[in-house]
Amino acid sequence: MKALCWYGRGDVRVERVPDPELLNPRDAIVKVTRTAICGSDLHLYDAYIPTMRKGDILGHEFMGEVVEVGSGVDNLAVGDRVVVPFPIACGGCYFCQNDLWSLCDNSNPNARLAEALFGHAPAGIFGYSHLMGGYAGGQAEYVRVPFADVGPFKVPESVSDDQVLFLTDIFPTGYQAAEVAGISGGETVAVWGCGPVGQFAIRSALMLGAERVIAIDRVPERLEMAKQGGAEVINYEEVSSRDALTALTGGRGPDVCIEAVGMEAHGMGAAGVYDRLKQELKVETGRPHALREAILACRKGGVVSVAGVFGGFIDKLPMGAAFNKGLTFKMGQTHVHRYLKPLLARIEEGAIDPSFVITHRLALDDAPAGYKMFRDKHDGCVKVVLQP
Ligand SMILES: [Zn+2]
Ligand SMILES: [Zn+2]
Repeated sequence: MKALCWYGRGDVRVERVPDPELLNPRDAIVKVTRTAICGSDLHLYDAYIPTMRKGDILGHEFMGEVVEVGSGVDNLAVGDRVVVPFPIACGGCYFCQNDLWSLCDNSNPNARLAEALFGHAPAGIFGYSHLMGGYAGGQAEYVRVPFADVGPFKVPESVSDDQVLFLTDIFPTGYQAAEVAGISGGETVAVWGCGPVGQFAIRSALMLGAERVIAIDRVPERLEMAKQGGAEVINYEEVSSRDALTALTGGRGPDVCIEAVGMEAHGMGAAGVYDRLKQELKVETGRPHALREAILACRKGGVVSVAGVFGGFIDKLPMGAAFNKGLTFKMGQTHVHRYLKPLLARIEEGAIDPSFVITHRLALDDAPAGYKMFRDKHDGCVKVVLQP
């Protein structure tokens, strides 16, 4: 089959690789009909994650048709149309049983490595380095889906691929950032970053009842998309976002600050990685900047909700501000499984059509050009969908 393989910084290639096979009774094979390039794939593309190996297949946002099921999968049949959550979860461990799917204890075969770095291992993730399990990703014609009796979610024919593809990651990710911040009605919410996750955070905050959403970015077409989603916008290249937020909130600050930027230098390897990370951070000072800003801007007693991906250490986090203002922090990889049903219902009832975020469609063969365009934000690129 054809697959998009990683070879190093800025080097991804579409290659012929062996078709995936069932390895466990609880596996299924999915023929991919749509897959997308994620902002977090750019961390791999820019080689900030040291546990990548040449030839690794990328992609954690994909959907398709079930073409093979293992003997232990009785809820799926060949021909089912499914979306697949990006975290891999067993369904039976303490974390899965408590609706904390991205923290599954049984899906990361490289848990030992992750434990050394994080204290405990997070769930495995498709196409996202060996630290996250070393699973082949979905930017390919076919993909093996482990724990297929738990993850893949059947979607009705009444909704198109474009409408449900983003249930795999960015819609639930934006939604979770708003939901865990406790938005229940009347809040003023600020969102840093108007990339795909930021766009869904804006719309989710409004769906949950926020009175105002103020979005911060510097890319005109992304700010325009945020405006169309109902946000007031701040272009931080034109005005100080701090001053603007102060003015817009009568000096009090937003009740909820959602950080949808993350930082580039989030990958980690083994011992001695800390110094390497600090070195990396020096060339990426702009990224943790958004988190610092969110902490300083947030109203006293407010919530800072982090949707952007962090993986290592960050310098100069204003902990004094966070403590003395009594802030609450919420964060984490998305428990996608938790949101599939309720968010599909929102799509079906017409509350949101997630396909608004798609700006480019490419064949899988053109994925390398898609990565470059997305990273460089060329041609108004916000979200690239690939069709194998
Ligand atoms: Zn993603
Ligand atoms: Zn589990």
